[in-house]
Amino acid sequence: MEKYLKAIREKVCSICVDSDENGNCKMTEEECCAVELYLDKIVEVVHSVQSERMSDYVDALHQRICVECRGGFEKCNLRADVNCSLDRYFPLIVETINSVDRSS
Ligand code: SF4
Ligand code: SF4
Repeated sequence: MEKYLKAIREKVCSICVDSDENGNCKMTEEECCAVELYLDKIVEVVHSVQSERMSDYVDALHQRICVECRGGFEKCNLRADVNCSLDRYFPLIVETINSVDRSS
C-alpha cells in the first residue's frame, strides 16, 4: 500500500486544492481526506474493475466507498460543493493506481 500512497502524494496531493505549494496536506486532524482514509478500499475497487470507461470506475466507487462513507453518494453533503478530494480527483487517482501497477 505504501507504493500507492507515495504515488498518490506525488500525483494527487501535489495538485490538490487542499495542499500547500509543496504538496503537503493542509487539512486539520478534525477534517479527514477520503483518499487517505479509504486508500485500501480505493485500490481494491480500482483492481476489481476491468473497463476502458471511467464511468464504470465511478459507479464502483459510489457503490463500494460512498455507501460506507456517507450512506451513498446521493446523500453526501460534500459532493455538491466538490468538497471531497476522492470524488474531485478520482480519474487521476485511477490513473495513478494503474500506473503504479504497470511499473511494478
Ligand atoms: S486532501 Fe487528500 S488528496 Fe488533498 S492534499 Fe490532503 S491528503 Fe492529499
Ligand atoms: S463523495 Fe462523499 S460519500 Fe463519497 S467518498 Fe467523498 S465524502 Fe464520502
